[in-house]
Amino acid sequence: MDVYVDKTKCTGCQHCKDVCPVAVFEMKGRGTPDNPDAGGANADTAPEEAKWKGKTEQAIVDKWSNVNDGHRHFAADNDGKSGGLSVAVNGSACILCQACLIECEGECIHITDDTGTKYVSIYK
Ligand code: SF4
Ligand code: SF4
Repeated sequence: MDVYVDKTKCTGCQHCKDVCPVAVFEMKGRGTPDNPDAGGANADTAPEEAKWKGKTEQAIVDKWSNVNDGHRHFAADNDGKSGGLSVAVNGSACILCQACLIECEGECIHITDDTGTKYVSIYK
């Protein structure tokens, strides 16, 4: 299984890490303006257009920045409960339970199974 997060849409809500039964995801920092990758946000298989370059898609910012649901959206670092960016550090462990695909509020998780079938998160 190949798993990556489109960093241009990730809010840092941490839902994916919290629901994944096999620890595919880790939360990483958003780095600095001069070095967005300083926190290790690009350590998964995301293609070039989905890598973290220091900027979140405006539509995602508009949708989530004022939502007060107990998560720190778009925070630079992770505090153990939210913030930072999700990175699929252990995609090969994925068992395709699809829990993360349902819970990802940024709709930014991409999974490709061993037959090449692709799955993308849709927030419910
Ligand atoms: S689909 Fe894979 S990555 Fe997502 S929660 Fe399930 S095991 Fe984890
Ligand atoms: S659930 Fe989606 S938006 Fe939230 S931290 Fe994980 S990848 Fe990012």
